[in-house]
Amino acid sequence: MLLLFVSPLPIYAGTLASDIPVSDNPVMVLPVTQICAGAPWPNIVWIHVHDNEETARQTALHALRQIQQGCLLDFRHEGNREVSIQNSQVSYQFDPNRIFTPKGRQSALKCRQGNCILAQEQLNQVANNFLNQYLIHTHLIVAVHNNHLNGLSVRNYMPGASMAQAMSQIAINPNSDAHDFFYVTTQQAFNFLASRNFNVVLQNSQQVHDDGSLSVWAAQRQIDYINIEAGRGHIATQLAMLAAVWTYMQQYYQM
Ligand SMILES: [Zn+2]
Repeated sequence: MLLLFVSPLPIYAGTLASDIPVSDNPVMVLPVTQICAGAPWPNIVWIHVHDNEETARQTALHALRQIQQGCLLDFRHEGNREVSIQNSQVSYQFDPNRIFTPKGRQSALKCRQGNCILAQEQLNQVANNFLNQYLIHTHLIVAVHNNHLNGLSVRNYMPGASMAQAMSQIAINPNSDAHDFFYVTTQQAFNFLASRNFNVVLQNSQQVHDDGSLSVWAAQRQIDYINIEAGRGHIATQLAMLAAVWTYMQQYYQM
């Protein structure tokens, strides 16, 4: 019945063994596990990067079980938002959704002690390896995230609000929770999801601040990117949003 299988990727490693020189293991920093249901869906990758956003992980896995096709790249790092690396040479941490562009990862890296130049080199290398191996050839990236009550909402992207610079178009359904919204990089996805009465933000890819997030990288590569962002615990809503994206996938990415 349950056809999900889990395979650790070559870049998997929760923590580094302290006796292994870091520079010899540059790909041991991103704690990624690949979870597939059925065969991979060509050109589409699902991704969950914040380990403390459990609703997003569970709803994505549930949707994959139903679809029975596709793979989720799941970052697992001790249940925290940030990834921490600690070994004999260096100790540092970073938000895994701030490392996808060179500029972003430079400011994302918080080096606590040790060889911080090595840490920067290492992070550059693993991030590039990850992108080249798993994302650069995709046509659609489906990311899943959760926010909390006082956290991000679609209102942050309204004209005059804190994130307005990142927005080129916005659709708001006043009857829905502002914490449940899509953040997309293509007009096609915006139109599709807005027409189904969801809250949707279309990224302004010319003006968005390059903070190293995956949406910025995807826009630079002209890859269709959909972030399904829902309030923590909003299981039914996030599932409905995933179902809408499934319909979108079938419409535009059917083999
Ligand atoms: Zn997140």
